[in-house]
Amino acid sequence: MLARVWSASIIGIDAVKVGVEVDISRGLPGIVVLGLPDAAVQESRERVKATLKNAGFAFPMGKIVINLTPADLRKEGPCFDLPISVGILAASEQVRADLLGDYLFLGEVSLDGSLRPVAGVLPIAAAAQKMGIAGLVVPADNAQEAAVVEGLAVYAFKNVANVADFLNNPASYKPVQLDGSSGNIHTTSLHPSVTDLRDVKGQAHARRALEIAAAGGHNLIFVGPPGSGKTMLARRLPGILPPLEFSEALEVTRIHSVAGLLKNRGSLVRHRPFRSPHHSASGPSLVGGGSYPRPGEISLSHLGVLFLDELTEFKRDVLEFLRQPLEDGLVTISRTRQSVMFPAQFTLVASTNPCPCGYYGDTIQQCTCSPRQREQYWAKLSGPLMDRIDLQVAVNRLKPEEITQQPTGEGSVSVRDRVQQARDRAVKRFQTETNLRCNAQMQSRHIYRWCQLDDGSRNLLEGAIRKLGLSARASDRILKVARTIADLAGDDNLKPQYVAEAIQYRTIDRMQ
Ligand SMILES: [Zn+2]
Repeated sequence: MLARVWSASIIGIDAVKVGVEVDISRGLPGIVVLGLPDAAVQESRERVKATLKNAGFAFPMGKIVINLTPADLRKEGPCFDLPISVGILAASEQVRADLLGDYLFLGEVSLDGSLRPVAGVLPIAAAAQKMGIAGLVVPADNAQEAAVVEGLAVYAFKNVANVADFLNNPASYKPVQLDGSSGNIHTTSLHPSVTDLRDVKGQAHARRALEIAAAGGHNLIFVGPPGSGKTMLARRLPGILPPLEFSEALEVTRIHSVAGLLKNRGSLVRHRPFRSPHHSASGPSLVGGGSYPRPGEISLSHLGVLFLDELTEFKRDVLEFLRQPLEDGLVTISRTRQSVMFPAQFTLVASTNPCPCGYYGDTIQQCTCSPRQREQYWAKLSGPLMDRIDLQVAVNRLKPEEITQQPTGEGSVSVRDRVQQARDRAVKRFQTETNLRCNAQMQSRHIYRWCQLDDGSRNLLEGAIRKLGLSARASDRILKVARTIADLAGDDNLKPQYVAEAIQYRTIDRMQ
């Protein structure tokens, strides 16, 4: 007998419906899987066989042919275990087959019959809702993730026997309800996992730079000796960015879902991601890759922060991979059969020592590097990413009297309010330019239009260009940052004090 079950596969961060046809006929016992299955799907044959036996079902004698459609789409991973199991049970008349077409099934099975969570459930749930599928059947651990999608009935089960019972008595089961207030993610407090600026001692200059970075969407680099708190400061940036809108949270969650980072961990990613890959990271792990392309660190930090600690330790050719995504806000990964696109709009925060020994410019410890060593080091810093970074910020070690004091600075929530107001101001200004969302994205023509200088500001900027030997690009960066500082002050005009403050954030230019 023939049974057909629906499932789905992921391409990039989108889902495609997959048909699982199971035919059982007389003949030599055996199982064949057709339709471009990968190794994990092939292994599914043995897993399903053991599972059904251990769960107390009869495993049919005869020849079992499993056909996955459409035939030209590669199917990967263990998520077809459950649909294949259901197909075998239906084809051998151990469950009712009349309602199978109403549901879409996903899940890996264990040998004891229990269901294990799979990656990519959120995008599949979203696609199932669009396709008008009546219900989605998933492992219990994927329940909350799937239930985020409105207008779709989600049924979640712990084992294969429960799924069989559901198919035989569907009326006695109710769809999963979403926990708590997942739909409402706007809160007046910080998410508990987000670190607060309130705990930072001193560092007024660096805190201010973080606020400017958040308000204008500017990339930033911290330059300072070991122990000055560069990492600790960088971690505070997600908490002062505006809270994620619900649609943005869905976007972030889709990416994390496909990467398999949501397993057993509830539903929506509610706060902006912070990712900090090690400097030994490979190109594909940063930008995404693999024979079935998976999102890399830049996509996992989408709408959040990518932190590259010790920038000079990263391989130059690896950093080169980041240039295009930083420009486009997305990355395309091409494979012979398909090319996929992952979103990658992130704020880049980097950190570096000011010299090889780490103490150039430090007030406590003497730098032991020769001038030549320092020059070589700074030349390395003018690498592929520096012309994408608007703010170069010096961070100093705390003085002893600062270390012993209680932190007295402002908390992240009130800084975040100012950031939001500045961003709103910029968005209002850009209303005729639909692809501009923040000041950092301005091109030359936008800078010409919205960063006009009065005589005092022009004199200041010309002086800085002369003194620091700045390029036209560096000068544009100063203007963009000055625009953000004016937005934070609620001012339409670029006054000299804004330009003067923006010029301060050229620490690396000043060293060279
Ligand atoms: Zn040194």
